Amino acid sequence: MESEVVPCTLTPTSVAAVAVKVRQVTKIYGAGETRVRALRSVDVDIARGQFTAIMGPSGSGKSTLMHCMAALEPVTSGHIWIGRSNVTRLKEGRLTKLRRDKIGFIFQAFNLVPALTAAENITLPMDIARRSPDPVWLQQVLEIVGLADRLRHRPSQLSGGQQQRVAVARALVARPDIIFGDEPTGNLDSRAGNEVLALLRYFVDVLGQTVVLVTHDPAAASHADRVLFMADGVIVDEILFPTADAIMRRMLRLSEGHRGPSTPSANAC
Ligand code: ADP
Ligand code: MG
Repeated sequence: MESEVVPCTLTPTSVAAVAVKVRQVTKIYGAGETRVRALRSVDVDIARGQFTAIMGPSGSGKSTLMHCMAALEPVTSGHIWIGRSNVTRLKEGRLTKLRRDKIGFIFQAFNLVPALTAAENITLPMDIARRSPDPVWLQQVLEIVGLADRLRHRPSQLSGGQQQRVAVARALVARPDIIFGDEPTGNLDSRAGNEVLALLRYFVDVLGQTVVLVTHDPAAASHADRVLFMADGVIVDEILFPTADAIMRRMLRLSEGHRGPSTPSANAC
């Protein structure tokens, strides 16, 4: 049965400042009895040069939305623009190029190649694309992420935090338009997680990067400029310049609205 959750009206973003534009995006997995509507007519703009976090209960569609925005997953209907490119219309060859040139992705499970050194992992996507990284920029990236003395180590010789910093460097080195992270601190202790979040914040503040982070941790989301809340495949609320406390209170309110029999919808906007 479809739930009563309805989308909220989000803060408008000026057209020039939009890194990703999502319009009426629906995503359906499976068919028949296994059919799942993971996204239901989602509209959202991701502002350029901002740190956006996406929160919501497990299964609410956070990863699906992020994978669709990163052009890793096709939509069922609707449109997504990354910059000027309508990625829902691109053929596979152009999509591969767009992912390579414009998108950096950091996964919860690091996704490093065990047989390669940290340095080789960082430049792997560029090597595959037969592009050589700008050596000055590469050096700068390594210094920013604090891996200059770990470059010859293989992933198994690095801590979880160091492995994730390799993945962060790999996402940044091609100077993508947007860096997406799907629970990138989910496998880390709080100190290593905070280091990764501080790096993402630095990318936005100092390098002017656009960052989108999926997390279920209010403390992690409080590093963002804007937090979007999802429930049942739609965006139901947002907070600008949040504190961890404000995020926790909003999550509580949303979950109460969702459960409460007297509240017809969880739309808390
Ligand atoms: P979240 O990241 O918020 O936990 P997801 O986007 O992973 O949520 O999932 C949203 C819904 O879509 C869930 O019901 C999930 O089971 C379903 N789903 C996600 N990926 C797939 C898939 N590859 N095949 C079938 N169903 C999926
Ligand atoms: Mg997820």
